[in-house]
Amino acid sequence: GGLSSVTVIGLGPMGRAMAASLLRSGHPVTVWNRTPGRADDLVAGGATLAPTPTAAVAASELTILSLTDYQAMYDILGLGGATSRASSVLAGKVLVNLSSDTPDASRDAARWAAVHGASFVTGGVMVPAPAVGGPGAHVFYSGPRAVFDAHEPALRQIGEPRYLGADPGLAQLFYQAHLDVFLTALSSLLHATALVAVAGVPAADFLPGAMELLTGIPTMIGDGRDLARRLEAGEHPGDLSTARMMGATANHIVWTSEKAGIDTRLPKAVKAHYDQAVLAGRASENWTVLYEFLRAGG
Ligand code: NDP
Repeated sequence: GGLSSVTVIGLGPMGRAMAASLLRSGHPVTVWNRTPGRADDLVAGGATLAPTPTAAVAASELTILSLTDYQAMYDILGLGGATSRASSVLAGKVLVNLSSDTPDASRDAARWAAVHGASFVTGGVMVPAPAVGGPGAHVFYSGPRAVFDAHEPALRQIGEPRYLGADPGLAQLFYQAHLDVFLTALSSLLHATALVAVAGVPAADFLPGAMELLTGIPTMIGDGRDLARRLEAGEHPGDLSTARMMGATANHIVWTSEKAGIDTRLPKAVKAHYDQAVLAGRASENWTVLYEFLRAGG
């Protein structure tokens, strides 16, 4: 009986939230962090602070890593002369790395783990720390399916798991692709707020409507399924929202930004996408024609 024990290495805001959620759900939790003081609240809440990374990995079949990047994992688990070498205890263990890095770093890490007899699962957490373990939290995973399935009940405490496939790079790729949408949207919100602010419009008069536009995008372009079908088929029927019309609008945004004296890099990048389609003679096609140029490297 009893829930499986879980080790969490890396107690930044994310790792601390994960360990706290696992504790709340009744899992025995062992933690380790380079800066030990960050474990204090978790230890007060019932977690065990391991004295070394080796002891932390030894304490559970499942070790979750939440670190700045993948190099931190190698630093901690003792590649290349680190003081605490945990690699000897990796045999038979499961490492689930929820840190961001590149898809290739995840693939390299899976090979590295295999050399030490460990299984490796990649994850990308799609919510900030306060939302970890709460409603709406979800996490992308990739790696060996059977290993993922065996630990799914514990991983579920971090957020709803979404398994993508065996390629260890896939979860990282999905994480990055979502952040590509997210970070660009955040920059556009700030840029647009600056545009109206310079004209004397308070941010509060603008941002709620901008947020409505963001969340209303699916009512304009669908839930993504139809767009996906059209992009894959290379169909860009130009009846509505042509590249010419959208490109003219992109131009106006650049001019207005220039006149306002604010940063123009983001709208210029968007304008460049449309300019390319127009120059290639595809102005009368739908705005989705940009995809052909973005995919081909611009
Ligand atoms: P932090 O940068 O706050 O925490 C990083 C952790 O990594 C700390 O425990 C730190 O130890 C440790 N660390 C970094 N480098 C080393 C090293 N060389 N050796 C040993 N330990 C090291 O990050 P977060 O908790 O915010 O995020 C963790 C991961 O989750 C990141 O990859 C991030 O991109 C991702 N993520 C973050 C989200 C967020 O909203 N914060 C949302 C989704 C994903 P120490 O305490 O000693 O410094």
